Amino acid sequence: MSCLFCKIVAGEIPAAIVHQDNTLVAFRDINPQAPLHLLIVPRAHIATLNDLTEDQDALVGSMCRLAARLAKDHGYHERGYRTVFNTHRDAGQTVFHIHLHLLAGRGLSWPPG
Ligand code: AMP
Ligand code: ZN
Repeated sequence: MSCLFCKIVAGEIPAAIVHQDNTLVAFRDINPQAPLHLLIVPRAHIATLNDLTEDQDALVGSMCRLAARLAKDHGYHERGYRTVFNTHRDAGQTVFHIHLHLLAGRGLSWPPG
């Protein structure tokens, strides 16, 4: 298995893990773009959003709910935060194991770059 995030999920590569359960792992982005920058990933390998199947709807929902919970845990629940999935080249996807970015702690411009 050559996938970086599968290796983090398996504990083969270290990461600053902030949450793990039976289906999801969340850890700090190694190159943070905001004071809080977490990545929420499923334990299961799914390359991109394009590869999701209907039976994974609940899994993606749990990723979103975990993002909200972690934002609250870090005190950004009301101030605000951004959640992002990048898919393929134009969005700048570099790791092909789906991950929900959670960014908070500074004003985030819109539209994004
Ligand atoms: P994306 O561009 O959406 O594919 O995001 C991939 C993210 O993974 C980037 O923000 C990287 O900084 C981050 N990243 C890459 N390697 C690691 C790592 N070993 N641990 C934590 N985050 C990583
Ligand atoms: Zn993977």
